[in-house]
Amino acid sequence: MSSPDIISMGEALIDIMPAVAGQSIVQSGQMRLAAGGAPANVAVGLARLGTASGFIGKLGDDFFGHYLQQILAENQVDTSRLRFTRQANTGLAFVSWDERGDASYLFYRNPSADTLFALEDLDAAYLQSAKVLQFGSLLLASEPAASACYKAFEIAHSAGVLLSYDINLRLNFWPDEATALEKVRHPLEYAGIVKLNRAELAFLTGIDDPEEGVSKLWRSNFKLVVVTLDKTGSYYHTEKSAGFVPAFRVEAVDTVGAGDGFLVGLLDGLRQANFDFGNEAAIRKACLQGAACGAIVVSRAGAIPAMPYRAEVEALLASKQGQI
Ligand code: ADP
Repeated sequence: MSSPDIISMGEALIDIMPAVAGQSIVQSGQMRLAAGGAPANVAVGLARLGTASGFIGKLGDDFFGHYLQQILAENQVDTSRLRFTRQANTGLAFVSWDERGDASYLFYRNPSADTLFALEDLDAAYLQSAKVLQFGSLLLASEPAASACYKAFEIAHSAGVLLSYDINLRLNFWPDEATALEKVRHPLEYAGIVKLNRAELAFLTGIDDPEEGVSKLWRSNFKLVVVTLDKTGSYYHTEKSAGFVPAFRVEAVDTVGAGDGFLVGLLDGLRQANFDFGNEAAIRKACLQGAACGAIVVSRAGAIPAMPYRAEVEALLASKQGQI
């Protein structure tokens, strides 16, 4: 497999989902396994759209870990630099729904294999050969993974690789909010692309209005910030342009992976436009493709299983042409 355009770094986990719609695992006593972890979801989604992607991180040398690797590989994600360990098991995340129907997660890690990702697991030449290094904030909460991530940022950044940061805030991973704020902010100094939702924007800036919040967050190294706004759509901001792109109207089945789906469409769209951040039409098109992918993901159960293929995204975009 040739070297991937986009390397996604972070956690691949087993999501344990309620098997009965509208009921928690505790109520129904029934559960269903799904491959998950935002960076793994993104790697699979990109590959399904036709962007060459790779996944780096650590899995337990156990049947869950090997199952996750198989899912990634079956989806044409390059797993040649994925590592396994016997020191800890593959992480599990139990999913339940809050009153709004959004997912909340109970993680079993302490430690889990993903957090044991370490400096010696990094292949510098592999990182340097990518166009984009995609990552989130989860691994920054644990050592040795946090140090490995920072090293990867430095290697990629100094080679001119674009760093794309999906905040993906999980407050229960951090000892307190002040520590979370400090550590989650830290990678912003390397990031070219930042993707976050409204709650994450409010956490980082104290402002939930996208225009005001992004102005406060903005740094000179940023190329693009996108705030996703649930079923309303998204707000993009580059050095020279800013604006809103609407979402698609669909019947939501579950919202797991909506943000990951959006990111997949966005990054694939940006790659098709050669990451030309001065081209506003291309940025809007990438956000619209993100919205199409997000909409398809929420209209189906799960995250990885819900990630669309290119033909499905094009069909949705074509069906709404002129209406958006
Ligand atoms: P996150 O999952 O990270 O909180 P959002 O909820 O903002 O992110 O969703 C990301 C994107 O997915 C939105 O910008 C939108 O395009 C799409 N999306 C989310 N929920 C819906 C929905 N109910 N209907 C249609 N599109 C949605």
